[in-house]
Amino acid sequence: MGSSPAWSTSSLSVTDLARNASNVSESVRIWQGVFMENEYKYYSDYPSEPIGGKNPYYKCSLCGISEPQINGRIEGHLKDCPWRIQKESDLNKEKLDDDKQ
Ligand SMILES: [Zn+2]
Repeated sequence: MGSSPAWSTSSLSVTDLARNASNVSESVRIWQGVFMENEYKYYSDYPSEPIGGKNPYYKCSLCGISEPQINGRIEGHLKDCPWRIQKESDLNKEKLDDDKQ
């Protein structure tokens, strides 16, 4: 608990985003009901920003991959995307913490 990753930026805490992820993914689960399968979880709790121009889509503001490309998948982000790194480490922690909580 309380560990802060070295890559944290001044204006954006992905750790905080990840902490809220359970709430966000609850609404995403409802919103993305069509996409939900038992083995498939749609993640959209990463920081995003409009791609701009006439492009109607958003992109991950950390690695710049567009939402259609990411398609809700952790693997859709670049390998060095801070959100992906944090998410993967949180998921591992969740597994380890299952016994405690
Ligand atoms: Zn990303």
